[in-house]
This record gives sequence, C-alpha cells and structure tokens, in this order.
Amino acid sequence: MEPLRKKYRQILVIIILILGGLSSLAFLLLSLQMEIVYKKNIEASIIEVKKNFLKDNVDNLIITIEQERRSQEALFARLNQLAETALDGYNTYQPEDFLEQAIFYFEDPIRQTYLTVLIADPASGRILYSENVSDLDQSLSFSEQTEQLAPLMTAAVKKDYGRYQVFFGVRQSQVEDNVEQYIREQIHASRYSNDAYFWINEVVNYEGGDNYGIRLIHPNLKDTEGQLLSTSMTDIQGNYPYLEELEGVKGSGEIFYTYFFKKLNSDVVSEKLTYARLYPDYNWIVAMGVHLDDISTYVTAATAESRQNSSMMLLALISFIISLIVILAIVTNRIEAWYYRNSEQELKAAAYQDTLTQTYNRRAGNEYLEQTFKTYKITGESPAFIMIDIDDFKKVNDQCGHDVGDQVLIKLAAVINQHIRSNDKLYRWGGEEFLLVCQGLKEDDIEAFTTKLLAMARSFNYGCDDQPRTITISMGVSYYIHADSDEKEAIKRADLGLYEAKKTGKNRSCYIRP
Ligand code: GH3
Ligand code: MG
Ligand code: MG
Repeated sequence: MEPLRKKYRQILVIIILILGGLSSLAFLLLSLQMEIVYKKNIEASIIEVKKNFLKDNVDNLIITIEQERRSQEALFARLNQLAETALDGYNTYQPEDFLEQAIFYFEDPIRQTYLTVLIADPASGRILYSENVSDLDQSLSFSEQTEQLAPLMTAAVKKDYGRYQVFFGVRQSQVEDNVEQYIREQIHASRYSNDAYFWINEVVNYEGGDNYGIRLIHPNLKDTEGQLLSTSMTDIQGNYPYLEELEGVKGSGEIFYTYFFKKLNSDVVSEKLTYARLYPDYNWIVAMGVHLDDISTYVTAATAESRQNSSMMLLALISFIISLIVILAIVTNRIEAWYYRNSEQELKAAAYQDTLTQTYNRRAGNEYLEQTFKTYKITGESPAFIMIDIDDFKKVNDQCGHDVGDQVLIKLAAVINQHIRSNDKLYRWGGEEFLLVCQGLKEDDIEAFTTKLLAMARSFNYGCDDQPRTITISMGVSYYIHADSDEKEAIKRADLGLYEAKKTGKNRSCYIRP
C-alpha cells in the first residue's frame, strides 16, 4: 500500500476512534449523571415514605392517648358519682354518724389512692379529714384549699352535708398518671420494622436549658426513664437534637429532624429520622424515629439494574464503533481495489491502443508476441503472423492529402477487424503497416486467408476529386519454427516475406518457409 493511502486510512481510523471514544465518554457521563438523579429520587421517595410512616404512627398514638384519657376521665367521674351517691345516703344519719361513715367510705384503699378529699367543720373552721392534699398549705382554710384544688380536678364535688362541708374528686394528674402508665405499656410492648419506636419526653421548662424536660417513656433506654434532659446534649456529629426538637414543637407543634443515635438493642450509632409532635395538655413531646441506614440498600438494589442496562448499552455502543471501523475498512478496501482495477484497466487499454485506428499498438503487439512464443515453446503450436503494408501509400497522401491517408488507415483496420475471429489480433506495427496474428490458422489455409485479405483491402473506396479509388496491400507470412530463439525471428521472416511480395509486384502475399 502506498504511504499516502496508508496515512489517510490511519487518519480515518483515528477520527472514528476519537469520535467513538468521545461518544462513549459522553454516554458514560450521561448515565452516571442519570444514576445520581435516579438515586436522589429514590432516596427522596424512601424518606417521604418514612416520614409518612412516622407521622401516621405519632398521630395515631396521640389519638390513643386522647381515647385513654377520655376513658380514664369517665372512669373517675363514675368513681366520684358513686362517692356522692354514698354520701347523699349517709346524710340522713346523725352528724357524728355521717362523719364516721364518710371517713370509713373514703378510707377504702382504692378510693384512698384516687380521691382527693377534704371534710371541714365551718363552725370551728377546722378541717376534720383530708386525703391526698399533702401538696397544699395545711394552714389554709377549707374554702382556700378547695379554690386551689378546683382547676386541678377532672371531677369534683363540693357540697354541704348538715354541719359539714365536703369536697372530693379526682385530680387530672391522676388521669395523666394512668394514661402515662397505659401508654408506657403500649410503647414498651410495640414492635416496628427497621428498629422504629416511639418515645415521650415531658417538657418542664419551654425555655430549654438544663433540666428542661424529663425522659418519660423510652423503650430503648428503659433504665433512664425519669432522667432529666438538657437542650445542650449533642449527638456524635455535634447536632443538638433536644434543642432542635424543643424549638420545632414550640414553633409549629411538630418537627421532622435527623440526628445520630444508637440503634435499638445495639451499640451501633446511625443516622435517624424523627417526627415529634407536642401534646400540649400534658406537655408531652410524642416522637417516633427510624434509622436511615437501610436506604443505601434499597438504592443499591434499585440502581443495580439500571447500571447493568447502562453497561450493556455502552458495550453495544463500543461494539457498534468497532463494527463500524471494520465495515469501513472492508468497504474502503473494496472501493479502492475496484477503483484501482478500473483505472488500471483504462490506463492499460489506453497504453495499448493506437489512437488513430483503434487497433492495438506495437507495444501491445510486442507483449503478445512474447506470450505466444512462450506458449509455442510449451505446445509447439504457432499462430500465423501476417505483416501487412499498404501499397504505394505515399501516393494516397500525396494525391489526396494526409487526412484522407488517415481515413484509409482507419477503414482498412476496421475492415480487417470485422472479418477476423475474436482471438485473432490486429496491431498497427508502423505508419501504414499492420501485423495480424491469427491463432489456429494452419499453413494449409494461409493462402486462402491472405487471398481473402487482399479482397478486403480492395473492398472499400476512398477518394478525392470525386474519384473513387481503392487500395491494395502486400503481405509477408511466417510461423514459429524450432530454430527460433525468440519471437522476433518470426517477425523478421514476415518482413522478408513482405519485402518479397513488394518486390514481386505488390497486391500479394509471400510466405517465406524456413
Ligand atoms: P510501398 O508500396 O513500397 O510500400 O510504397 P509506399 O508509398 O507505401 O512507401 P513507404 O512505405 O516508404 O511510404 C509510407 C508512407 O506512409 C510514408 C508516410 O508519409 C506515410 N504514412 C506513415 N504513417 C502515416 C499516417 O499515420 N498517416 C498518413 N496519412 N500517412 C502516413
Ligand atoms: Mg511501409
Ligand atoms: Mg507501403
């Protein structure tokens, strides 16, 4: 391959490789970008699902708290009602008996636990009996004490029975304690997937700071329930989850936030998403959290397939580029070969053709003769060589002009070519001299054939001055003989024959036999 062709092919391959490389790179970058977006979307969706899960559960727990509160309140209202009915019954007794019965009634262990009671004698201003009032100033009067108690009660009765003033009822804190106990049992017993769980902190001071709150219920840290909390507590990343939680619930009553915390029943610390909502009646922050370390597992699983698809597409792209290079190489090779063959043929044809008569030229003749001699050496078969020369051609030129002479040459060649067989070949050997090589023309038939040629030469007219004229030709014939050392010797003999034909009167052929 010539260096130029080699070079442009190399350039072509390099261009394809660069373009292929660039498009593969672009594809790779694009699929990586898409994967990042895809991952982000999946992460966001999972977090959204987790948020909904947390919020639903916390909302439901607050509904449970309310329901439990209602049923506890109903229960205590009933307890109070029963006490009132009993005391109403004792009212028919003598005053001393009423007091004795009433005290007996309130000293029942269940009532003692739940009921706050004050019995006073207004005449003396003395308090005769009290239950669950240790938090009050005992020096205060009955009415002062009941005034302080009133807003703390969920159910209360204040009534005069004869000479006694009686106050009894159940404190809201009692309801709250029972609700807390019930909810603690619920939270400690509940199980959620992926280590999610509830906890409740009670706010003591909404301003924050040390001892701002109490860890009320916490299934992961049961031993620390009741412990005081501080907003200055941090997680391992330096976040202030308690402060963030307090500020959040103070603002809108609820907050989603993340921080680092140890996993349930484990010492592993991982990021946790939490939803916290304030239950203002009890100053409870009801919260639920779930760890986020499972997200990467979901994301990896979800992106694995898309990554596989991208790899397949990249592979397909690279295979396509390689196929393109191979196909291009084959196609250019074929086109080049075809082009070279055609142009070579054209060049060869042009190089071997006589421009005037369209016959083969002498160069073609020499090559062909060489070939025939080789064949003769192998097969012993010689073609006939007929050297043809137009008689008195000079006169044609002289009398009718050179152009007419040219036309005569063209016509003679055409006539001969029309009448010879396809494997006979006519060469323009010199000015008005032709060499005819006839394959398979036997010596016995040569006389008849040259006679035909003489007739052919005479068969057409040329003219000038409106005078139709004809030409004659002379021929010398030869064949290869054993003694020949090359093809030229046969041609020499044909020349000799021609010379002889001219000498003996022209318009004839002469075969010089060896
Ligand atoms: P002879 O019978 O002995 O062959 O006589 P002649 O006139 O043919 O003699 P000669 O072979 O010496 O002359 C050949 C002439 O052919 C000489 C030359 O001017 C002429 N001739 C050669 N080539 C061309 C050609 O291409 N065109 C034309 N018009 N004339 C040519
Ligand atoms: Mg001549
Ligand atoms: Mg001549």
